[in-house]
Amino acid sequence: MPSRPCYDVLVVGGGVIGAAVLHALAKLGLHVGLAERGVIAQGCTAYSGGLVRVFHADERLSELAAASYPFYRDFEASVGEPCTFTQTGLLYFPAAGTEVAARGQMNRLAPRVPMAWLEAERVRAAHPEMHADGPAIHEPGAGYMSPPQVTRAFIRAARQLGAVVHEGTAIDKLVRVGDRYAGVETTLGTLFADRVVLALGPHTPSFLDQHRIPHALWAQRIQVDIRRPPAPPRDHPAWIDDVNQLNGRPHDDGRFLIGCPTHDIRFHDRPVAGIASHSDVIDAMGRRRFKWVADAGREGSYASFDCYSEGGLGTARFVDEARTLAVISGFSGGGFKLAPELARRTARLLAQEASTC
Ligand SMILES: Cc1cc2nc3c(=O)[nH]c(=O)nc-3n(C[C@H](O)[C@H](O)[C@H](O)COP(=O)(O)OP(=O)(O)OC[C@H]3O[C@@H](n4cnc5c(N)ncnc54)[C@H](O)[C@@H]3O)c2cc1C
Repeated sequence: MPSRPCYDVLVVGGGVIGAAVLHALAKLGLHVGLAERGVIAQGCTAYSGGLVRVFHADERLSELAAASYPFYRDFEASVGEPCTFTQTGLLYFPAAGTEVAARGQMNRLAPRVPMAWLEAERVRAAHPEMHADGPAIHEPGAGYMSPPQVTRAFIRAARQLGAVVHEGTAIDKLVRVGDRYAGVETTLGTLFADRVVLALGPHTPSFLDQHRIPHALWAQRIQVDIRRPPAPPRDHPAWIDDVNQLNGRPHDDGRFLIGCPTHDIRFHDRPVAGIASHSDVIDAMGRRRFKWVADAGREGSYASFDCYSEGGLGTARFVDEARTLAVISGFSGGGFKLAPELARRTARLLAQEASTC
């Protein structure tokens, strides 16, 4: 098998997380490569809603999102490539019993990112299309981007900085020399690297199992339905509804994307259609929050797996004592909005450790 030059760091996986890490590493001046088994942004990034928001019930996720938010808002300045940010605003509905904690968390974030507490009557006044018995947090600057477009922009910018991208290059095995990982065996030969980063999305758990690397991750299906209200409400915000386990946002042409967790962990390595019984669940939960759901036409349903972890906190760390193999995954349907800051932190960690091989 032909061998290739040695990288300081080789990233495996061309989704938004791998691409953001590649770009952050290239900006630090490292000699970096990325291997993707198919084409860039073909994994769960291709199906992502691309919602960018800051408030999370968990403080660590809020911190990651708050640091990523200005990066996305000024993407061209951050990456050197334009990408549209569609500002919709967002309402976050805290689960019953978590209102006090949510308000405290919001007060900590509000000096950095505009957000406001709305009591139920203010939600109803501003949004007559909604049922609201409890409060919500309003984040006016939230919105969405196109995750495949963002991912390809990271890749183009990284290439301009000297990164090498190997598409159509599936990784079969990790190369191990003594106690260090030294590269990967691919369908096109061996790629050597001083350090390897795995950003395999929902493939991460099975890949780690195959290499007997302990982890606490799993793949879980996310289903999104497309609904068209007969009279689309104007200025409708995106939403995360922890009362009814609903999330979604305005889509195109007066339509909405709407989803709720499936808890389905039977991983398929291919895009999957939405399941009708789950569309019924989405419908039932949707009617509890939105008056328009009852009359909205069903215009399709699709699904993809993402990598999950307890609390959605994910993992971004070395998994070997020699600190040569890092895994970054497990953000449970929320990895897009966190990618810039995850990448920045991971790149700094790797740059500290990198030496010439
Ligand atoms: C339906 C849906 C909606 C979502 N909505 C949002 C949202 O609104 N906001 C938000 O922040 N997040 C959202 N997410 C989550 C977010 O999109 C993901 O967390 C993020 O895209 C994960 O990116 P990734 O790079 O880890 O994974 P992926 O995009 O899956 O990339 C992994 C890549 O690794 C490649 N690969 C796998 N195995 C190998 C191998 N052996 N060799 C080489 N390459 C390999 C795959 O081909 C793939 O391209 C959503 C996710 C889904 C599924």
